[in-house]
Amino acid sequence: MRGMKAAPFEYTRVESLAEACALLAEHGPDAKLIAGGQSLVPMMAMRLARPARLVDIYRVPELQALSAEADELVLGATVRQCVIERDPRVRARLPLLIQALRWVGHVQTRNRNTAGGSIVHADPSAEIPLVASVLNATLELHDSSGGSEIPAQEFFLAPMVTAIAPEQCLARIRFPIWSEARTGSAFDEISMRHGDFALASACAQVALDAEGRCTRAVMGVGSVSPIPHALPEVGEQLVGMRLDDAAIAGAADAVAGLIDPEGDLHASGEYRRHLARVLIARVLAAARDQALQTNKAAA
Ligand SMILES: Cc1cc2nc3c(=O)[nH]c(=O)nc-3n(C[C@H](O)[C@H](O)[C@H](O)COP(=O)(O)OP(=O)(O)OC[C@H]3O[C@@H](n4cnc5c(N)ncnc54)[C@H](O)[C@@H]3O)c2cc1C
Repeated sequence: MRGMKAAPFEYTRVESLAEACALLAEHGPDAKLIAGGQSLVPMMAMRLARPARLVDIYRVPELQALSAEADELVLGATVRQCVIERDPRVRARLPLLIQALRWVGHVQTRNRNTAGGSIVHADPSAEIPLVASVLNATLELHDSSGGSEIPAQEFFLAPMVTAIAPEQCLARIRFPIWSEARTGSAFDEISMRHGDFALASACAQVALDAEGRCTRAVMGVGSVSPIPHALPEVGEQLVGMRLDDAAIAGAADAVAGLIDPEGDLHASGEYRRHLARVLIARVLAAARDQALQTNKAAA
């Protein structure tokens, strides 16, 4: 390949969300937002993306806010991944996101990458989109005429294709916080080397009652479907059950039956299905154990 260099482009660093939206409206599909640039810049260097104008939102203060409300954690789209993983409010209230972040790239990439960039890039193996989908986070989109909301489970359409329009900016991601005292979560994945894109990944969050019965369960798998694959129907089957080995094996089998992974150079489709089954069993058991420990701590 000759000269890994982007095609020429104009560049504007904006100070506000309104300014970003005005530029997107003015330049249409020729303009593209840039946040951390860790996915977009390589794509431009390979000429897979050729925006005529980059609109840099990385330093827009209103997009960098992180707040914890009573029932939700609100991340501005350009909150950096390293900020999220060090935030005590996220650690206490949304441990699943912390558990996922340890699998995302490397310390060096997390120092620059943004939560919103990962969600809009929509790589089917990406960890943050999987957590957003499994918890069905609310995504706030803005354009020059105002804002709208979309549930994460409706946002991802195909590999690297989402419901966002060219003139829209993802402004905030609102993750629901579960109120149940006995809640546990886990994220796990298998890749060739730590920090590589996953061959398969899985995460789960469960809530248990005082007797240890499941009152709520959500789960999903990554890298085995064209989009981050939330499986609410399998979670619903677990409600009212004790999450013993048989219940967990049943859920893992159900997940394996609902996916149809494609094979590639790194792993066959059947191997990916096997990994998804194993990983779902692991994360459900780990989430259950964490919820039971919370029970002990609260007692
Ligand atoms: C070495 C390396 C390893 C990596 N490993 C992993 C990994 O294991 N798991 C993983 O998930 N990712 C991984 N990544 C990808 C990394 O997390 C990406 O950088 C991230 O997905 C994109 O974030 P960004 O802020 O850099 O976005 P950018 O590259 O700036 O943008 C990505 C796309 O999103 C759009 N965009 C960005 N912000 C917004 C917004 N607010 N509204 C609308 N559109 C927006 C851009 O226009 C562009 O199309 C890795 C990257 C590197 C370089």
